[in-house]
Amino acid sequence: MPHWICLACAVEHPETPDPPLECAICLDERQYVPRSGQAWTSLERMSADGVAIELSEPEPNLFGISASPQIGIGQRSLLITTTEGNVLWDPVGFVDAASAEKVRRLGPVVAIVASHPHMFGAQVSWSRALGDPPVYVAEADRDWVRRPDAVIRFWRDDLEVVPGITIRAIGGHFPGSAIAYWRDGADGRGVALSGDTIFPGPSGKWVTFMRSFPNQIPMSAAVVDRVATSANAHPYDRMYGNFGNVIDADAMAVVRRSADRYMSWVSGEFDVLT
Ligand SMILES: [Zn+2]
Ligand SMILES: [Zn+2]
Repeated sequence: MPHWICLACAVEHPETPDPPLECAICLDERQYVPRSGQAWTSLERMSADGVAIELSEPEPNLFGISASPQIGIGQRSLLITTTEGNVLWDPVGFVDAASAEKVRRLGPVVAIVASHPHMFGAQVSWSRALGDPPVYVAEADRDWVRRPDAVIRFWRDDLEVVPGITIRAIGGHFPGSAIAYWRDGADGRGVALSGDTIFPGPSGKWVTFMRSFPNQIPMSAAVVDRVATSANAHPYDRMYGNFGNVIDADAMAVVRRSADRYMSWVSGEFDVLT
């Protein structure tokens, strides 16, 4: 039976003879069903169409994993390699034997984590292809799992998935939206993988926070304050988003400064005439 993948968001659904009728993730106000309607592909079809995984190395021991041609939202997954095992973050919605082998060559994956449901991708299929490492899903986002499986482990608050890598559910974009903190990243200054829980902007000097990126729905000042404060509970210097976007240095201060600016705009403290 085909492994169904939503064409718009690239989140996997259970194996069934026919595709699902709808994708709940795309029906939600944070995503969208394209004007052309709900459509599906499958891992098998993508493989036959020549979709492949491409690797990059943004910094030592950190690898980017992208599908080419782009699928779904087009995220770049990240893989942190450590001597205790590797962590796959925001898995793309495509995997086959050849792509799994590329990732295996970088060492054993011991944890798969998505920052939030838009980034679930083919997380269970990735686990199957990599020897069944656990797939961590934030307890608060439990109901968004489209493909339930025994490899999924629900978690909350802070969890050290391997020594030196801690995931933290800070909420905002989704109730369980998470950040991963990599202690040894950025030459030991610390890295945060933020998905789009916090979104690094193009200048590398500001970030933003959104309930919905495609539909441009903002958050309240109170939620942005809470998210920024919670993000800075652990130290980091560099922040990577889920599209190759990055704050190279001083990212904790960037997050705070950006939150303060955002709060001023959405609370009416700033005026468009200033
Ligand atoms: Zn979808
Ligand atoms: Zn999202």
